[in-house]
Amino acid sequence: MYDVVVVGAGPAGSMAAKTAAEQGLNVLLVEKRQEIGTPVRCAEGISRESIEKFFEVDKKWIAAEVTGAKIYAPDKTEIVMSEEMAGNEVGYVLERKIFDRHVARLAAKAGAEVYVKTAMVDFERKDGKVKLKLRRLGEEWEVETKILIGADGVESKIGRKAGIIKTLKLNEVESCAQYLMAGLDIDENYTYFYLGREIAPGGYAWIFPKGNGSANVGIGVLPKMAEKTAKEYLDAFIEKEGIEGKIVEFVAGAVPVYGEIETAVTDNIMLAGDAAYHADPITGGGIANALSAGYYAGKVAAEAVQKNDFSASFLRRYDELWKNDFGKKLKRNKKLQLKFIDMDDALLNKLAGAIAGKNLREMSVAAIVKELLKAHPKLLWDLKDLF
Ligand SMILES: Cc1cc2nc3c(=O)[nH]c(=O)nc-3n(C[C@H](O)[C@H](O)[C@H](O)COP(=O)(O)OP(=O)(O)OC[C@H]3O[C@@H](n4cnc5c(N)ncnc54)[C@H](O)[C@@H]3O)c2cc1C
Repeated sequence: MYDVVVVGAGPAGSMAAKTAAEQGLNVLLVEKRQEIGTPVRCAEGISRESIEKFFEVDKKWIAAEVTGAKIYAPDKTEIVMSEEMAGNEVGYVLERKIFDRHVARLAAKAGAEVYVKTAMVDFERKDGKVKLKLRRLGEEWEVETKILIGADGVESKIGRKAGIIKTLKLNEVESCAQYLMAGLDIDENYTYFYLGREIAPGGYAWIFPKGNGSANVGIGVLPKMAEKTAKEYLDAFIEKEGIEGKIVEFVAGAVPVYGEIETAVTDNIMLAGDAAYHADPITGGGIANALSAGYYAGKVAAEAVQKNDFSASFLRRYDELWKNDFGKKLKRNKKLQLKFIDMDDALLNKLAGAIAGKNLREMSVAAIVKELLKAHPKLLWDLKDLF
């Protein structure tokens, strides 16, 4: 019998387990993969602020530090955001193989039990607690817990079975494909974003440098708008851009671009990270919110254990915390995403042309949209109240 069982040792789960264990709870963290952090289904970009909020930065899990971002419209108009204008959306490119393990290790150090190669196969709520069936190497057994934290990613079985979330529709998820490429000739001070319906319908392509001429080169497309697979779009992008390098890894994955869900809790259960569709609908970035959500879930679990109250109405404190932190931004960026995926390439070129060469005060989506609003208020009239 545990106070808390956390399913999934991504950033959300390990952070939740670490926080709950630090509060003195009896915690189990289970991860179905054999190694935490691999395969890396992520471009690994995160802002400095988001990571420094929780960790002392260790060079071991930083692959690269970037000082700016370059955004390209379909006609190659370039928008540059650079160091002097300082860093929000991307600052570090992590080495998640090492970072994710580091966070899980901190959870273990705080007292959590960590089981890898252990899948949660089923669960049921009964008599005020949750019974889980776990499986490792063909062996099945049961554990009980007062609180279950579902940090089991975008396809969260826990969220769907508990009735908290519904399966995402084809316009609520980005389908992604990514290569880790080596031998590239790029300026490693920047991350690169490529927009356009032809390149990436409903999404964008990216190059995030990882040092020594290597980079995550990937693409996200909205299945509802796409006519090919994400990998086919990625291959076409690489060919069109003339990106020359050796492919050393390939991953495919999905990112929720849902916006804000109403609640991430039910009796005895909290969802955190991608499981609660916490990723940003416009950038697809989900590590920062996953870490914050995991932290809040761990804190609220400790309060619930102290009060011996595991009801949904008590756990709604967790909703309040994550919504206060990043709920508004999820909602706002969902509106922006819906506006931008409607734009054709000619309009994107026009908007980019209007702000190319401008001094963007900060490296963030908000900074870009504010400039666009100044340049083309009529075109973006419906967005004016978002800022
Ligand atoms: C191609 C791609 C690029 C991305 N790039 C970025 C980026 O640059 N920056 C950024 O911030 N975000 C990015 N994201 C999003 C980011 O990867 C996620 O938002 C983030 O990993 C969410 O963390 P999480 O802990 O919620 O879930 P995950 O990291 O998905 O972890 C969930 C864990 O749960 C485990 N699990 C699932 N089911 C079970 C089960 N039944 N039993 C036991 N374990 C289970 C899984 O094995 C997994 O380890 C990208 C995503 C993709 C697909």
